[in-house]
Amino acid sequence: MPLVSMNEFLPKAKANKFAVGQFNMNNLEFAQAIVDAAIEENAPIIYGVSEGALKYMGIEYTVAIAEAAAKKSGLPIALHLDHGSSFEIAMKCIRAGFSSVMFDGSHYSLEDNIRLTKEVVRAARAMGVSVEGELGTIGGVEDDISVDEEHASLAKPEEAIRFYEETGVDCLAIAVGTAHGMYKGEPKIHYDIIQKVVDAIPVPVVLHGGSGVPDEAIRLSIQAGVGKINVNTENQVACTNTIREVLAANPSAYDPRKYLTPAREAMKAVVKEKIRLFGSSNQA
Ligand SMILES: [Zn+2]
Repeated sequence: MPLVSMNEFLPKAKANKFAVGQFNMNNLEFAQAIVDAAIEENAPIIYGVSEGALKYMGIEYTVAIAEAAAKKSGLPIALHLDHGSSFEIAMKCIRAGFSSVMFDGSHYSLEDNIRLTKEVVRAARAMGVSVEGELGTIGGVEDDISVDEEHASLAKPEEAIRFYEETGVDCLAIAVGTAHGMYKGEPKIHYDIIQKVVDAIPVPVVLHGGSGVPDEAIRLSIQAGVGKINVNTENQVACTNTIREVLAANPSAYDPRKYLTPAREAMKAVVKEKIRLFGSSNQA
C-alpha cells in the first residue's frame, strides 16, 4: 500500500472514539519497531518526523524507509512532518513524498497563524496531503526548541474553533496541558477545552506530548475527542535504557546489532501497548 493521508483514518477515529498514534521516526530501528507493532495490532499509524530528525536521517532515506514499511505491512501509514516551521519546509516534504504535514504557527499571532496555515492547507490539499495546525503553545522540549511552563499557554476554545473554520485543517493540535519531553509531575489535562472544541468542529483534536501521560488520562482525552496522540520520548527512553543495560552487562560488545536488536524490541513493546491503549488495534 502506498503512504496515505491522515484522512484515510482520522474521520473514522473521531466517529468511533479511538486515537491513531503518531510515533516519531528517528532512525531505521524506530521505523521497524513501530511498523512491526502496527502489523501485530493491525493498526493504522502515523510516522512523525521532526525537522531535526529529517536533518539527521536525510529526506530521501526518510521517505524510502516509510514507503518500504507501508508496502511491506499493507497498513494505512501516513508520513507526517512534525512541527513544520515554514511553508517552504512543508512544500519540500510534500515534494519528497510525505503524505501529511503539520504547520506549527503557534508562535505567531492568531491572525498570522491563520493566514500562514491557510497557505499550507491550500497547497497541500491540491496534492492530497493532510494538514495539522497548532493553536496555543505546548510546553516542554522538542528538538532544540524549549518552551518553559510560563510561556506555554492553553488554547482558547473560541479561537480554536475560528482557527478551524478559517483554515480547514484536517486535525488540530491545541495546548490543553500536556508537554513535550519528560514530565516532572503529572500533567493536568483540560478535558473541557478538548470537548468544547471537538463538539464544534468536524475534525479531531491532537494530543502532543503523549509520553508519560497516565493511561486513565489518555482514555479520558480520547473520550473527550482526541483522535491522534503523539509519542516520541517513551520510545527514546526505551531505546537508550536498553542500550545502556546491554552495554553495561557486556562491556566488550562491539557489534551494533547486539544492542540495537533488544532496543528495537523494547520500542516495539512500547508501541504495541500504546496502540492498545489508544483503541486503534484492528482499525486498519
Ligand atoms: Zn509536538
